[in-house]
Amino acid sequence: MTTEGCKRPRTHFHDISGALASATELMFNPSLSDEQKALRELARQFAHNEIVPIAAEADRTQQYPWELVEKAHSIGLINITVPEEYGGGGLGHFEDCLVAEELAAGCAGIYSSFVASTLGLTPLNIAATPEQMQHLMIPFCAEPALASFCLTEPGAGSDVASVRTRAKPDGKFYILNGNKRFITNGGVAKLYTVIATLDPSLRHRGLVVLVVPPDLAGVSVGKKEDKMGQRAADTREVIFEDVRVPVANRLGEEGGGFALVMDTLNRIRAEVAAAAVGVAQAAMQAATEYAKEREQFGQPIASYQGIQFKLADMAIKVEAARLLTWQAAWMADQGLHNSYESAIAKCFAADSAMQIAIDAVQVFGGYGYIKEYPVEKYMRDAKLLQIYEGTNEIQRLVISRLLLS
Ligand SMILES: Cc1cc2nc3c(=O)[nH]c(=O)nc-3n(C[C@H](O)[C@H](O)[C@H](O)COP(=O)(O)OP(=O)(O)OC[C@H]3O[C@@H](n4cnc5c(N)ncnc54)[C@H](O)[C@@H]3O)c2cc1C
Repeated sequence: MTTEGCKRPRTHFHDISGALASATELMFNPSLSDEQKALRELARQFAHNEIVPIAAEADRTQQYPWELVEKAHSIGLINITVPEEYGGGGLGHFEDCLVAEELAAGCAGIYSSFVASTLGLTPLNIAATPEQMQHLMIPFCAEPALASFCLTEPGAGSDVASVRTRAKPDGKFYILNGNKRFITNGGVAKLYTVIATLDPSLRHRGLVVLVVPPDLAGVSVGKKEDKMGQRAADTREVIFEDVRVPVANRLGEEGGGFALVMDTLNRIRAEVAAAAVGVAQAAMQAATEYAKEREQFGQPIASYQGIQFKLADMAIKVEAARLLTWQAAWMADQGLHNSYESAIAKCFAADSAMQIAIDAVQVFGGYGYIKEYPVEKYMRDAKLLQIYEGTNEIQRLVISRLLLS
């Protein structure tokens, strides 16, 4: 993989018949260039020096550490997949995944705010006109800022086509009304990408994607959700009441919103999978080190096969999840339809992270249950990876449908 080979293409094809083609047949080569290794090292150092020291406190207080956005922006660790001419890193989802793994290993909650921002920007990367990129993306990327992807509603979660937030055409504007639930970066975003409907009875054919600045009249946010894990991320309701959104802020065609959302999610699932690999890797490392130090019955617990096999199973899952993740990201960067591969990667990596975190707590024994040690946080953080960006049941639905079709 070279950096050049990973540049995000502007075009992609939707031929589902290619979905089951093996990426190995397509010359997927999971080795890193020097530039990619340097980027990964930069992210690793950032996680080590900036994220890890404040992760437990941000988890406890649920205060979003905004200074990290400023630092990440200054060294190019956010907006990675935005083309260079519009102020981003000009790199691919593959590189974004290298960064995701490292940052999420430091704190999945803090990284969640970065991936939610990438999720909010990806519909622009895919569908914005050059004028929209000039007008919306360049100012956004110029400053440290985060975006939000506003899809979920109180009554619309897994069923995307049942969105009720209404965009009513009114001359050069849409009048936007509705509530979005569980929106990551909801209270700190400088740009909302909102999925709305022109007419709920049209279901997926009625969806439209609008870019909404938070300072428009009628935009407000609810209270911060008190979460089990990933507590540093700012998750809130976002409310739109008679908000006048310029038609010029619509991405793609009226009714083209469903395809744009699916395309966006297919691309970004690799980043969520990469975050899961990061959490899994961190939990495995903690368990391995602890097992070597902790003695019972006169020997380190690492000398017992019961513990050794747990660690081996962790390693198998981490390595497999990373390769699946890289494959899905590489396919997105090649402009290949990757819904099958990205669903497999997200599902396997998130389930693996959950299992590895649970087993890491077990390796720590009673200490694993105590907040002074890092593994209980990995367990709480991992759970969300099985739920957002499409639950793992929905990923299995996608995989089985493609398999059976
Ligand atoms: C902390 C957090 C952050 C989030 N951030 C964002 C964000 O930034 N933007 C955003 O838009 N959303 C966000 N979400 C929302 C998240 O994506 C949804 O919660 C998720 O898609 C599931 O929707 P739901 O909660 O309505 O569950 P439901 O869709 O009601 O599902 C409930 C259960 O039923 C299962 N289920 C549903 N349909 C089927 C089916 N056909 N077959 C089998 N099982 C099924 C689900 O898998 C799940 O187990 C976030 C959620 C959380 C908790």
